[in-house]
Amino acid sequence: MSLVLSDYASDASRSRGRRHAEAPSPGRDEFQRDRDRVVHSTAFRRLVYKTQVFLNHEGDLFRTRLTHSLEVAQLGRSMARRLALNEDLVEAIALAHDLGHAPFGHAGQDALNECMRGQGGFEHNLQSLRTVDLLEQRYPDFDGLNLCFETREGILKHCSHRDAVALEAVEPDGPARRFLEGRQPSLESQLTDLADEIAYNAHDIDDGVRAGLLTLEQLHEVPLVRRYLEAATRDHPSLAGQKSRRLLFEALRRLLSAQVLDVTETTAENLAAWSVHRSSDVRAGPKVVAFSIDMRHESTTLKKFLHRLLYRHSQVVQTTEAAKEVVRQLFTAYRTDPRLMPSDYADRADTQRAVADYIAGMTDRYALREHHRLTGCAAFDHVAVRRSDRSGPEQ
Ligand code: MG
Repeated sequence: MSLVLSDYASDASRSRGRRHAEAPSPGRDEFQRDRDRVVHSTAFRRLVYKTQVFLNHEGDLFRTRLTHSLEVAQLGRSMARRLALNEDLVEAIALAHDLGHAPFGHAGQDALNECMRGQGGFEHNLQSLRTVDLLEQRYPDFDGLNLCFETREGILKHCSHRDAVALEAVEPDGPARRFLEGRQPSLESQLTDLADEIAYNAHDIDDGVRAGLLTLEQLHEVPLVRRYLEAATRDHPSLAGQKSRRLLFEALRRLLSAQVLDVTETTAENLAAWSVHRSSDVRAGPKVVAFSIDMRHESTTLKKFLHRLLYRHSQVVQTTEAAKEVVRQLFTAYRTDPRLMPSDYADRADTQRAVADYIAGMTDRYALREHHRLTGCAAFDHVAVRRSDRSGPEQ
């Protein structure tokens, strides 16, 4: 590794290791190797056809899980470099953090969770871990990607107490232990979590405006966004009132830069104030990687705005309900006749979990094709597509 890491960064040479011992890889450290494994996985390629907020078929320019994950990796690496943290670990976690998302975004997760009630439920963070631990099957000697503990810990960024107890029973002192002990993950894991929030807040504004569901006037309600819209207008008065998207892009660029700077400055202050010297020092305390109090407040206000006006927008909810119905009907069909699934799922003894794993692995469009094949219905015919596919000259 060419960059100098701080003493509190995670060090690949001191990793807690992999569940299955492997010889080192020449020319790469263990976190770089994890990043490479994620990029080459099947689940990673599927992210390109999985919904972030807008369904994949609604337009070519909306974020998908793949482009979202790349934006999280970019923001995460940028902040990690400024703090002399381990960029490769951040990148590995960022690229893997959404691998467990079901098709159709949170709608797919919610529907699967309903279907799996009484069977342990369905939750995407757990499913991301399950994907890298079990469901990827590409190595001769083990299931999964056999990632390092530190990468797996970052992937499991949220976990209920009930799920943590269940995971701990299967893997004592594994990545779920910290949820039982109330301890923090590595700085790189904390940082990737925040990079995720920064990324989706900004790109959901962009996608919401692109879809015609949010307007610049509405965005002026949010102090954090208004500040950068006004600053961008002040510095570039010719952009005001134009149809060009440049004003919004300029405001979002400033918003991202301000949040990255806020996190790095606040974190540097916390590291000094809380005498963090080694990576192990971060485990017991409060979260070290954080927004300032003001930025935390403003970011939360922005999130609430997006919930109210975008995620719960009637047009988004309409597609959400249609997507849930697709997942529910797929689940019923496969559970009733597991032979409708490929044999490696159909042959499993835990039928319901096998169905959930199979559906969770689907892309949006594969789920729709399967749904059409099994039910003869075209699920989204009654849902208006907001914008035609504008993949040409539009920015
Ligand atoms: Mg994410």
